[in-house]
Parts: sequence; structure tokens; C-alpha cells
Amino acid sequence: MSRVIVIGLDGATLPVIRKVTEKFELPNLAKMLRQGSSGILESTIPYISPPGWISMVTGTNPGKHGIYDFLRLTKENSLKLVCFNDCQVKALWNILSEHEKKVVIANIPVTYPASQVNGIFISGPFAPKLSAYPKEWERKLIDMGYKQEMLAFEAKTEKFNKESILSQLLSIERSRRYTFTKLLKEEKWDFYMAVFTFPDRSQHFGLDTENFSPFYQILDAFLGDVIAEMGKEDILMIASDHGDSPVSKRILINRWFMERGLLSLKQAKLGQILSNIGLTKEALQSNWLLTNIFSRLSKYIPSLYSLALKLLNFVPSRHGSFDLRRVDFEKSKAFAYGSRPLCFINIISHDPTEHKRLYKLIKDFLLTMKDPARGGKCIKNIYSPNDIYQGPCTKFAPHMIIEPEKEYILDSRYVGNQGMLIEDTGSMRTSHALEGILLAYGDNIRAANNIRAEIVDITPTILHHMGLPVPVNMDGRFLREIFHESSESAKREVIYQHVEKEKEKGGPREELTKQEEDEVKKRLRDLGYL
Ligand SMILES: [Zn+2]
Repeated sequence: MSRVIVIGLDGATLPVIRKVTEKFELPNLAKMLRQGSSGILESTIPYISPPGWISMVTGTNPGKHGIYDFLRLTKENSLKLVCFNDCQVKALWNILSEHEKKVVIANIPVTYPASQVNGIFISGPFAPKLSAYPKEWERKLIDMGYKQEMLAFEAKTEKFNKESILSQLLSIERSRRYTFTKLLKEEKWDFYMAVFTFPDRSQHFGLDTENFSPFYQILDAFLGDVIAEMGKEDILMIASDHGDSPVSKRILINRWFMERGLLSLKQAKLGQILSNIGLTKEALQSNWLLTNIFSRLSKYIPSLYSLALKLLNFVPSRHGSFDLRRVDFEKSKAFAYGSRPLCFINIISHDPTEHKRLYKLIKDFLLTMKDPARGGKCIKNIYSPNDIYQGPCTKFAPHMIIEPEKEYILDSRYVGNQGMLIEDTGSMRTSHALEGILLAYGDNIRAANNIRAEIVDITPTILHHMGLPVPVNMDGRFLREIFHESSESAKREVIYQHVEKEKEKGGPREELTKQEEDEVKKRLRDLGYL
């Protein structure tokens, strides 16, 4: 019986893994790098967690599963939080459960609410609450001190403080390690998958990998437990949803659209007026005299402090948030939205000829965009959904997908002020990249360090290795090159299975309430995703 273990590492890259393995004592990672197959795992476009993880666990591109981002744009032009109910195809755990294989699935992002499986399922980040199957596992998880990241993490409630963030993240990953090990050793499984998120979070908070030695020690010790559990036919994979690369400049794309006359916002509210005269949070906080007088005064009158904090909420940030409710749809042609470092463009016209004309106009405009300071172009690629997606959900894809040049991120969240087109990214020094990591290890896996695979290849490879057919609707392939030529999996032909039509995903669906959705959105903003 061949079993498979996948350890997900959100945002991990090969250069970082190699560097930390050399620098810190990580015997198990070192063994995997030395004896196993390693290389690049290409993510989806856009290279962000939701489409990345969902493509990995379904073997399909976003045109089939329908998940492009954390949020999706509704017909009414509001942004709705994506959850696993939005996934339009079966996931690996559905297929394995149908074949009566036992699964343990823990902490994969965007898998809320928990799926009913033949085994145990724990939903991952961006969930409003702990969600597990069977339901009694929610109680068990609380009892064993398992920390649901969104609920455990309080980034913005304290001062942004490296120590506090590190210790919070560390306690979350420790609680995961404890639970993951218990599941690994005490439960029966044929397929086991668990995700750690520290590589991605270190990037979001601008922390150095140097600070991350304790995190890699946790990972390495856990890998030791996993390897000890493995039989001769079992394989272990480490896979990431996307990579990570340096950035220094932020393109305020909606400001560009405003200055080009493509986007018009409704009459300025108080915040915009304040920001136009230079009264911003940043200006107030950096005014030494003002803060000094204020801190002295608040010593005598403590209530002054809380009053001032409340007032500060009304003062706009220098960047001025982009709010879809302020778009003047009569006068606008397009707007940008979606998570960094890429962005999506929505064209505001239902007339196909006008849509086509605007598409070309915007494309030409974006292709000629130049960084005023550096002079070079800052947009690398402009994709139409049909260029990069295939499947019935392509029609729900954003109208245009824009990829920036190296060092740049596209930021649709702020409109800034007149002339504020490109800015430094400040404390944000890296952002997501296409090239993630794949490591494979086991008696059947050969030693190689030049693997190049796509994220959709993971599921077909797992199915074939476990002796199961691969559904023909999957876009990935069996990664024969990671196996020894003499191994049973490499010698055996891949059997493709015709899929009639995706069965309706039966049963009642647990949707997010408005309050839950707002809560998750707030946390995503705190973490710097939205
Ligand atoms: Zn991610």
C-alpha cells in the first residue's frame, strides 16, 4: 500500500530553503534535499494563496475550479469573500474518500467550511471560526490547544512589534506541530496533508529569514516524525502555493486610471478634503511638536488620549483607500482590484464592442506606462482570461489580469493623491512570486535537484502513486521524473478516467454570515492581504 504525505509551506521558495538548511542545523530537510527530488513548483496566475492551494488540491486551473483571489467581484460591484463552497470541482480528499481511502487534512488555506471526508478535516486560514469534520474534532482541537490562526493572531491590536509578532507566530506554529504530530501518529490515514504558514507570514511582516530559525527547527523536527512513520512505498512531498521575491516599488494603479480619465470617483467626502489639504494620519504622527505636546497633556488628562485615538480614525491615511462604493460608474471606464502583487481590471461596459474597444485602450495604456523616476516600463504582462485559463469558470474570471515587472507590485487598494503614481513599498521588501518549491522524498524517489513542475501536477501524481486513476478533467500530469525508473509507480501506465459531469456537491452548505465575512476581511487587511 502506497501512502502519501504532503507538507504545505505557504510562500516557501527553494533558495530560502537551501539557505536555511545550510545555515541552521536541519538534518531532515538536508536529507530530503540530498536524497530526494527538488526543484521549482510553478504557481497559478495570479500567484496568491487561494488559486494556488485550490489548484494544487484539485489538479485543475482556476478556469475549472473558479477561485481567482480572496475576494470575488459580484454583479453588483461588491467584493465577496471566497470560501471553499465556491470551488466548482472535486478536491483530492473527495476523490480519495470515494475510493475509501482514509485522509487527514489539516490547515489548508481557503478550505472553510470543513469538508465531509473519510477521515479528519480541519479547515485552514481565512476562516471566521474553527471548523472541523467530524464536528466533535472542534472540541478536541480546542482541548489540545490548537490555534486557529485568524483567531489567535492579533497583529494590529498592539503596536507593530517584531518580538510580539514573532512570539505570536511561533506559538501558532507550535500548536500546529503538536496537533499535526498527534494526527500523524494516532490516526489511520492513506493520505495526510498539513500546512504551515510561517514562510508567507514572515514575508508579509517584512521579517528576515534569520529570525526564523526556531520555525525551521519546528518544521525539521516534524519532518523527522513524518520520516519515521514512512513505509517503503510511502512518499513525502513539501509543496508551496507560490514563491516570494524582492520588491521595492508600489504602483497605485487606480490613481493612474484616474489621471488618465478612465476612473472617476464620486464627490470627495470629508476624508478626501482633509487629505487634499495634507491632513493625514502620517502627517499628524510624524509631527514631533504635536505628538510631544499631546503626550504631555494626556498624562494629566487620560481620557484625552482615547478621545484623540477615536478622532484619528476619521483622519484619512496618506494613501486614501480605494472604495468601490465611491466609483462613479456613469463616468468611469474601468477600475483595478485584487490582491498584490498582480491586479485585476474590471471593464465597466456590458456592450461587447465597447468592451473590446476599452480592453485595447487599457492594454495600450498599460503597456506604455513608465515609472517616472526610473524611466523603465513597469507592467510585464497583460492577460485576458482566455490566454491563461481553460474551463467553464473562465467566464467568471476577471476581465484582465495584470502582472508587474520585477521589483514592482500593483496596489489597487489606495487611490493616493494627485501625482502619487508610484511609491516605495516601505517595510514590505518582498512579495509573492510564480516560482514556489517542490521537494519529494522516499525510497521510490530519485535524487535530482532540477525538477520543474506545475502546481496542478501534485494531485495527479498523488492519485497515480496511490494506484488510482486520474480524472481526465485535471490539467496536471503524473511527475514520472521524480520517481526511480525501477519503481512500481514509474513503470505503471497512468490510467485516465472519464468524468461525466461534476456531481452536484450535495448537502446543506454553511455560508458565512455578513458579520463573519466582515471579521475575516478585517483580519485579512490586518495581515496585509487586502
Ligand atoms: Zn500563500
